[in-house]
Amino acid sequence: MNILELNHIDKDYKLDGGELYHALKDINVSFKKGELVSIIGESGSGKSTLMNIIGGLDSDYTGKLLFNGENIGEYSEKQLDEYRKNKIGFIFQSFNLIPHLSILDNVTIAMTLSNVSKEERVKRAEEILEQLGLKQHIHKKPNQLSGGQKQRVAIARALINDPDIIIADEPTGALDSETTDQVLKIIEDIAKRGKLVIMVTHSDKVAAHSSRVIRIADGEIIYDRKGRELAHIEETTETSNISKRAQNLSFVSAVKLAFQNMREKMSRNIWVSLGASIGIMSVILMLSLGGGLKAYMNQSINSMANPRVVEVNMDEHTDNSADSSKGMNTLLGQSPPFTNKDLETLTKIDHVDSVEKSVNIVGFGTNTISYGDKSTSVLSLSTMSSNVTDSALLKGSFPGKNEIVIQEETADALGGDIIGKTITFKWLVDEKFYSADFVVSGIANNTYVNYKDLAQVYADNGNELQPTTVYLVADDKSHTAAIKEEIEKSGYRGSAQEAMTDSFNGMIDALTIVLASISGISLFVSAIMILVILHISVVERTKEIGVLKAIGARRKDIKRIFVSEAFLIGLFSGLIAVTLTSVLGWGANSISSHMFDMNIVQMKMSYITFGIVTSIIISMLAGLLPASKAAKLEPVDSLRRE
Ligand code: ADP
Ligand code: MG
Repeated sequence: MNILELNHIDKDYKLDGGELYHALKDINVSFKKGELVSIIGESGSGKSTLMNIIGGLDSDYTGKLLFNGENIGEYSEKQLDEYRKNKIGFIFQSFNLIPHLSILDNVTIAMTLSNVSKEERVKRAEEILEQLGLKQHIHKKPNQLSGGQKQRVAIARALINDPDIIIADEPTGALDSETTDQVLKIIEDIAKRGKLVIMVTHSDKVAAHSSRVIRIADGEIIYDRKGRELAHIEETTETSNISKRAQNLSFVSAVKLAFQNMREKMSRNIWVSLGASIGIMSVILMLSLGGGLKAYMNQSINSMANPRVVEVNMDEHTDNSADSSKGMNTLLGQSPPFTNKDLETLTKIDHVDSVEKSVNIVGFGTNTISYGDKSTSVLSLSTMSSNVTDSALLKGSFPGKNEIVIQEETADALGGDIIGKTITFKWLVDEKFYSADFVVSGIANNTYVNYKDLAQVYADNGNELQPTTVYLVADDKSHTAAIKEEIEKSGYRGSAQEAMTDSFNGMIDALTIVLASISGISLFVSAIMILVILHISVVERTKEIGVLKAIGARRKDIKRIFVSEAFLIGLFSGLIAVTLTSVLGWGANSISSHMFDMNIVQMKMSYITFGIVTSIIISMLAGLLPASKAAKLEPVDSLRRE
């Protein structure tokens, strides 16, 4: 039976002007196993066109091409890939080895595409390379070999998947006469072992070696003659059985191939990754900076406040009795006082251990402390509460009965060494001056006296002191959150400072998002950069893509190799970004911890993961376009590229 049969094959090339060029005209010919067929003819007569059709590289023809009785024209894309991969071995005039792969990898690539195990691949390749006398060169790159050696590597590659048909398009065209003889001998042996070999040649000497000679002129078969009989060789060496599983290029192999290629263009890829990493780096840095600022805010608030204490203020809106006699306090932004009924309500809240009354007297120049003939004004006087923690005290002790703690600058204004001395405090509330003597017990961050002492002064003046702030002490700090909720429900306000922190946190969050988004714009630039680089890579490797397709790579495989490259660039730039951020963060932190006793950049594992994942996703998205461009290249067109 004929292994290959061509019935009424016609081929037209569409020219730029829209005309057709009739390259093959009604070709009818059939081939058997074990034949060594030479196709001869003038340049331009249609030999390569015919080879490409037989090899499954060109499906744009009319007529029937039967392989073992099956019409190849009716093959699906997948079947055609299988045909190219396992039934056909292609040998080109210009070798078409992949320059950045070793000899071994060049030969095994067709098996890699079928996901054959590495062990099996290497075993099989070594066998064939040994038969072709190339065993000692397997780790070299193609450009380290002579022309004859390169062509033998190409023959090994064509044989690796044990195909039924070998197609050689002018295999000796680029060789000198001595190596031509070597290569022809090898090709002859392939046919003698029972394969169909179809070889295009210019040389009559070469044609004389074959069992059949077909001459083509102007796209037509002029003659078809029998040549000398070939002696059949029985397979002497046991070639290992290779599995022709219909498997595909694995992701790991794709990444490996991509990596091998990228290594070739190492510095270019490093620069691109570095460029792309800057966007990711600034995003991670902004997030970490926002985290650091918030942590700092919260930490400084927590260290000053007692976690068991909840501050309560009157909500201005609940005060219906706002009359002008309260003038000064309201003017200074102070809340209205708590009534006994308010205090009762607050006492009843669950988990409240005690209720502490407090006032804060603020005066701009109207409140003074004097000692001897020295006098100075104080901005604010507060009463002691559980909310004042030890961190507030700088020197001495907190005030006992009829005692006061004052601020450093007050002490300085009164002549320095003032602890233990009696001072006079004079203050104005509701157009009335009050005055009282206190013993200075210490220096603190604010001026503090006890509420009881102050209440006594008011009572002595025929007035009643009303609390403007109340501190609720919880039985346990785990209950403060619930208490805060409860007071807000009852229409009171919490701590002004805390409200400020909350809004600060909100602002930092918003700012972080804005800054991170601005940095995000540079991600867009990175994406375009990666797209351009991969595009260039596709253009540079058009021929290689053609070769891969000729030996059976599917569109998917090609796409996978380029997407893998994008994946690797994304991964590298993500890793570079994390490294850069760590270095920058470390630098910023060593400065900030020196100056403010804090780490301003707080990197989290989640930011790092986010950065790397984003980098990979962006890079792969950018790679999709060039990758599918590569996948769509027609094998014949890409092979013709010089
Ligand atoms: P050979 O291999 O015998 O030298 P080819 O098969 O390469 O010849 O080409 C046969 C004819 O078809 C030539 O005239 C060539 O110019 C033409 N041809 C080949 N490829 C194309 C193409 N892609 N577009 C237009 N014409 C083509
Ligand atoms: Mg040709």
